[in-house]
Amino acid sequence: MPVKPILKSNKLLNVCYDIRGPVLDHAKRLEEEGHRIIKLNIGNLAPFGFEAPDEIVQDMIRNLPASSGYSDSKGVFAARKAIMHYAQEKRIAGVDLDDIYIGNGASELIVMSMQALLNEGDEVLIPAPDYPLWTAAVSLSSGKPVHYVCDESNDWLPDLDDIRRKITPNTRAIVVINPNNPTGALYPESVLLEIIEIARRNQLIIYADEIYDKIVYDGETHTSIGALADDVLTITFNGLSKAYRSCGYRAGWMIVSGDKRGAKDYIEGLNILSSMRLCPNVPGQYAIQTALGGHQSINDLIVPGGRLYRQRELAHQLLTAIPGVTCVKPKAALYMFPKLDPVMYPIEDDQQFILELLLEERVLLVQGTGFNWTRPDHFRVVFLPNVDDLTESINRIARFLDGYRKR
Ligand code: PLP
Repeated sequence: MPVKPILKSNKLLNVCYDIRGPVLDHAKRLEEEGHRIIKLNIGNLAPFGFEAPDEIVQDMIRNLPASSGYSDSKGVFAARKAIMHYAQEKRIAGVDLDDIYIGNGASELIVMSMQALLNEGDEVLIPAPDYPLWTAAVSLSSGKPVHYVCDESNDWLPDLDDIRRKITPNTRAIVVINPNNPTGALYPESVLLEIIEIARRNQLIIYADEIYDKIVYDGETHTSIGALADDVLTITFNGLSKAYRSCGYRAGWMIVSGDKRGAKDYIEGLNILSSMRLCPNVPGQYAIQTALGGHQSINDLIVPGGRLYRQRELAHQLLTAIPGVTCVKPKAALYMFPKLDPVMYPIEDDQQFILELLLEERVLLVQGTGFNWTRPDHFRVVFLPNVDDLTESINRIARFLDGYRKR
């Protein structure tokens, strides 16, 4: 009997997450063959020596015996209470316990929030470049991702006219990733207020991904968009993965704020999906209260002399010294998104470019198009490796580019 092919669901046809895409398989194969690869591809802090604060680890260990049962679907009381206080600190008004959902990382909640909202043809405005989970989550939920441009010549801030141009009667929501992955941009209040005005006029929900809100350099401060309007439905995402170096504990949350009067049915949808997954991972939830209430050790890493600060300086300096490479210096987060001069480097397929770099130089990056950037002229650098590895890897990128120019 001929083998009947087992096809993936049509729902996945436009779903793509290139941060863990095909080039990573080549990297794994090289590692299995014994090669050492310098990884500038994933914002996973712990493997680079940025360990989770000890008090979080100890608190989880202490709570482990009490964590073997399911919790409330939205999460344990103490963690949600701590998140509620965090919302108050961020000046997001009118948040009570019921408005807080804990998830297995922000990722689960991003997908859940889109699944609960979208019907076929519904459009969601998403930045380009973006953290690609957002585009994938909209596509998976039968929605249509519509990308608005962030302007490299203006510190990668959202192009507000482009947002306005792309609104149609089908637009339901706008995603704001601030601080931004992959550009490291931090949005000023004036831009956030304009986005709110656009959302207000067009009755859009704002989805605010603020997972890097505590990783901000140069004494800048982060403002939550949810703090600036109480009449626009806003869902704010955050978690322990980055500032508390705890991605593996899978502890994230979302906060529903703003005018909820018209959103009863949507919130019921969120509650249904939240109940269907029974509850988020319970030991990870126990880390939340300790993390938010404890010593904020992330602050030691982002000031001059701190490891993240030093590595940002170094990576930016080395990358921009390469002929034909320009890069907006990130104000926040763990990434930079350099541009390659298209005349000097006439790249047609940036995934192929990244693969060749890996094969020749054993350095792993993610191509710009993996972040829904349309032109093959950018790549993302994660500046988590230590100073020696960063220097070595960027020198190798420079050598590879030198060869590329001379082809
Ligand atoms: N949002 C952004 C912008 C991210 O960069 C990431 C992870 O890299 C996430 C969300 C996912 O975070 P979590 O580990 O909480 O699922």
